[in-house]
Amino acid sequence: MIQFVEKKKCVGCNTCVQRCPKGCIRLEEDEEGFLYPKTDSSLCVDCHLCEKVCPVIFRKEKRLPLKIYAMRNRDENIRFRSSSGGIFYLLAAAVLARGGVVFGARFNERWEVIHDYTETLEGLTPFLGSKYVQSRIGNSYRQAELYLKAGRPVLFSGTPCQIAGLRNYLGKGNEYLLTVDLICHGAPSPRVWDNYLGELLEKKSLPGGRIKEISFRNKKQGWKNYNFVIAGTEGKEQQSEIKEWISEPGSENRFMQGFLGDLYLRPSCYACPVKSFRSGSDLTLGDFWGIEEIMPEWEDKRGTSAVFVHSEKGVEIVRKIADKCDWRQSDYGQVVRKNPSLEVSVTAPRNRQYFFAHWKEKSLIPFIEEMIKPLPQRKWKKLIRKFIRILKSGRKYE
Ligand SMILES: Cc1cc2nc3c(=O)[nH]c(=O)nc-3n(C[C@H](O)[C@H](O)[C@H](O)COP(=O)(O)OP(=O)(O)OC[C@H]3O[C@@H](n4cnc5c(N)ncnc54)[C@H](O)[C@@H]3O)c2cc1C
Repeated sequence: MIQFVEKKKCVGCNTCVQRCPKGCIRLEEDEEGFLYPKTDSSLCVDCHLCEKVCPVIFRKEKRLPLKIYAMRNRDENIRFRSSSGGIFYLLAAAVLARGGVVFGARFNERWEVIHDYTETLEGLTPFLGSKYVQSRIGNSYRQAELYLKAGRPVLFSGTPCQIAGLRNYLGKGNEYLLTVDLICHGAPSPRVWDNYLGELLEKKSLPGGRIKEISFRNKKQGWKNYNFVIAGTEGKEQQSEIKEWISEPGSENRFMQGFLGDLYLRPSCYACPVKSFRSGSDLTLGDFWGIEEIMPEWEDKRGTSAVFVHSEKGVEIVRKIADKCDWRQSDYGQVVRKNPSLEVSVTAPRNRQYFFAHWKEKSLIPFIEEMIKPLPQRKWKKLIRKFIRILKSGRKYE
C-alpha cells in the first residue's frame, strides 16, 4: 500500500485513489490546503496497484520533442481569451469535431478549480485560460477511461504531473487518447486561493455570488503586461451588465506575486519529478516568451504559444489545425532560454515554512505582501540563480 515519507514525493494526481479496486484510499487536505492520500489498511488486499500507477515511483525518461513550433490561433477573439497563443482551443475543437470529449480545468460555482469535461464547442470556454491553482482532478481519469472504452476520442489536458498520472493509470495503448500538458511553473495551494478570494471580496465589499468571470491573465493591456481581473454583475438579475470589479496588473496583484514568488506552491513542485517532458504527453503547450527577439514581426498584444510535439498523434493533429494558425518551426534552445520551468524546478523561498506556519492567524493579503518583499540579500541570490540557470540551459542546447 502506498506510503508517504515526504510530502514532496506526492504530486496530488489522485491516480492511486482512482486505481484502488477496494476504495481504501481517499484524499485529505493538509494544513497548507493540498490533498494527500490517506489509506485504510483494513480494506487493503495488497494488490500494490496504487504503487504501480504512481508517477513519482514509476518515473518516465526525459525526452526531447520531435518538433517545436511557434504558433498562434488566427481567431483573435479566442487568442485574446486564452493565456498564450490559443492553441489549446484548436486542438480541443479538432477532437470534438471527431465526436470526441475534452477534459481540462475550469472554475466551479464556488470559484474553485476542478477538472471536468465537455462534449461541445460552447462547453470549451470555461477551460480557456490558465488558472494558477492546483486543480481538483476528482474521478476524471476514470471518466476518460469510460469514454475511451466506448471508442470515443479523448483529449485530456492538465499539468505534466496530472498527465503522467493519467498515462500510468491507463497503461499502454489507447489509440483514441490525445494528451496535452503545459509548461508548468508550479501549482499554488487551492486553500490559499479560496482564502485570498474570500478576503479580497470582503475587503472590497463585493458579492461573491455575482462573480461572472475571473481571469489570472487578462490581455486587455497585453500578453506580457497581463491583468488579474474579476468581473461581475451589478444587479441580481441574470441579464444585468457584467462589469470589471477588479482589474490590476498581474505584477501588482498579491495572489500572482505570491505565486510567481513561489511562496505557496505544492511541496512536490520544488522537486518536480516530471520536468523535461517526462509526463508522456503527446503535446506540450507554453508561452513563447522572447518571440519578439526571434520573430519581431510576431510581436503583438495577444500572445504566441510554444508547441512541443512528442508523438505521431501529436504530429497528425498539429497538421490538422495548421491552416487555422500562423506557425513557424522553432528549436528547443529558443524556448528554454526564456522558459527555464521546462527543465528546472523552482526553489522554495526561505520564508515558505514561516508563511504556512502563520497564514491562518493573519490577514492573508497583507501577509503575502510582507512575505514577498525582497530582502536585499535574497534579491541578489535570486538574480545570481537566474543567471546560472540561463547559462546552463543556453550551453546545453545552443
Ligand atoms: C499552474 C500553471 C503554471 C504554468 N506555468 C507556465 C510556465 O512557467 N511557462 C509557460 O510557458 N507556461 C506556463 N503555463 C501554461 C500557459 O499559461 C498556458 O496555459 C499554455 O501555454 C496554453 O495556452 P493556450 O493559449 O494554448 O491555451 P489556454 O486556453 O490558455 O489554456 C487552457 C489549458 O490550460 C489548462 N489549465 C488551465 N488551468 C489549469 C490548471 N490549474 N491545472 C491544469 N490545467 C490547467 C486547461 O485545461 C486547458 O488545457 C502554466 C499553466 C498553469 C495552469
